[in-house]
Amino acid sequence: MQVPDIIIAIDGYSSTGKSSFAKIIANEFGLLYLDSGALYRAVTLFAIENGYIDDECVIDVPGLEVAMENLDIRFGAEGTYIGDRCIEQEIRSLGVAGKVSPIATVPEVRAFVDRKLREFGKARRLVMDGRDIGTTVFPDAELKIFMTADDMVRAERRAAEMIAKGQDVNIEDVLKNLQERDYIDSHREASPLSKADDAIVLDNSYMTMAEQLEWLKKIISERFGC
Ligand code: C5P
Repeated sequence: MQVPDIIIAIDGYSSTGKSSFAKIIANEFGLLYLDSGALYRAVTLFAIENGYIDDECVIDVPGLEVAMENLDIRFGAEGTYIGDRCIEQEIRSLGVAGKVSPIATVPEVRAFVDRKLREFGKARRLVMDGRDIGTTVFPDAELKIFMTADDMVRAERRAAEMIAKGQDVNIEDVLKNLQERDYIDSHREASPLSKADDAIVLDNSYMTMAEQLEWLKKIISERFGC
């Protein structure tokens, strides 16, 4: 299937499989894939390692804002990097997951990430996943999908992923973390997680990836005549 030059924005709750779906879409239709959550996670790792956020999640916003001026986050062969250092493993840990949503409430952090995302997204042949892509980053995206799934199904999926990577996880901690993140993400003042009016909802609790792709192909073919 040949798709025209479009941006597909995928937003939704934590661990609904947005990144996995976005990667498959990018591969299927020859689009560039960008994971916006990885940038928030990278800023969070940077803030933890440099003392801009403490154990109680108190954030030194002025300090972080200045430090971000020289923060070189990029995507490379192995995923996410700060400068030449690959941080893909660290940013997926529960330590980072526990602090990323408070960091993502900070308007200065959101402005920093938005700038990068728009710069990376100049191509306009793109699939990007996150929480505010269809509402704030690319409100003019040609196709917007809002993903949701049952809480326990999401926790089990995320725990399985972490176990596969050799991490030590407890399903209750994973469930608690994703519910907390959903709450903070949906209630923050700056670009809260919400469905764009023109987004199509995908509840994939009991759908395979192949079924999700079929669902999307039907929509693309109806909408873009391809
Ligand atoms: O998508 P992922 O779970 O990796 O995102 C990590 C966190 O980054 C989210 O829980 C949310 O707090 C924040 N985020 C955001 N806006 C985005 C993408 C991620 O606030 N567009």
